[in-house]
Amino acid sequence: MNWISNYVRPKINSLFSRRELPENLWTKCPECGTMLFHRELSDNLNVCTSCDHHMAFTPRDRFAALFDAGSFVEVAVPDPVSDPLGFRDQKKYPDRVKAAQKATGEKEAMLVAEGEIGRTPIVAAAQDFAFMGGSMGMYVGNAIIAAAERAVKLKRPLVLFSAAGGARMQEGILSLMQMPRTTVAVQMLKEARLPYIVVLTHPTTGGVTASYAMLGDVQIAEPNALICFAGPRVIEQTIREKLPEGFQRAEYLLDHGMLDRVTHRKNLRNELITILRQMMRLPPAIVADLPAPRAATP
Ligand SMILES: [Zn+2]
Repeated sequence: MNWISNYVRPKINSLFSRRELPENLWTKCPECGTMLFHRELSDNLNVCTSCDHHMAFTPRDRFAALFDAGSFVEVAVPDPVSDPLGFRDQKKYPDRVKAAQKATGEKEAMLVAEGEIGRTPIVAAAQDFAFMGGSMGMYVGNAIIAAAERAVKLKRPLVLFSAAGGARMQEGILSLMQMPRTTVAVQMLKEARLPYIVVLTHPTTGGVTASYAMLGDVQIAEPNALICFAGPRVIEQTIREKLPEGFQRAEYLLDHGMLDRVTHRKNLRNELITILRQMMRLPPAIVADLPAPRAATP
């Protein structure tokens, strides 16, 4: 991925950059405290170079690293009714959405795209934890349905990257209704005999874990990702017992048969290519770098 990481990603990053502002040149690893230079960190797919801690990865950066030559086309997601309940806590719900849009530069908590990985055509959806905790509201439901419909139409597999604090409470029962809705979307893929692969990233919790995030044909997780319905603190307070070490983390769930794989982010792309091509009965991918782009004519 030499020219992808050296040429294409900086170009894309410079188009959407918030992180390259001078004050944000360094990031402190929350796990080991090492100061990481932004360039080094993004070259390493937002994984700490010193302790391998997997930090948050925005859907856009993830897709840029995932798709061949970092190139993908966004799939349009129909807009739901905004603020159906007129909800307000300390802030009005539409104001919260606007603040999240400003902070992330994204429209909502899920990005859907189509493109190729290892020359394998796929549809991919990724959830953005930075956007109101990646919470599943009507838009996320619509995004998953749009992704599944697009995958069925193009006869492509769907790869979904989950990250969520659960359902979006500002939408009340309408957010909970996304659980059966997205389950039906996954069923559409199964009926079309198309693979549905879930990559669980840190953290995937609540109603998301109770619906589409656990329905994959293959369940992969990133190292040390928290994956649960109710969180460890809630459980500990309820049962008044100390929970075992690593409880509800990816490795623990793998040991207990809840996952198929725990995969380091740097190996994820190649693993996905192998799995997808096997499931789609395609010959193995050609292992070679793509040719570098021609220099633009002045
Ligand atoms: Zn670290």
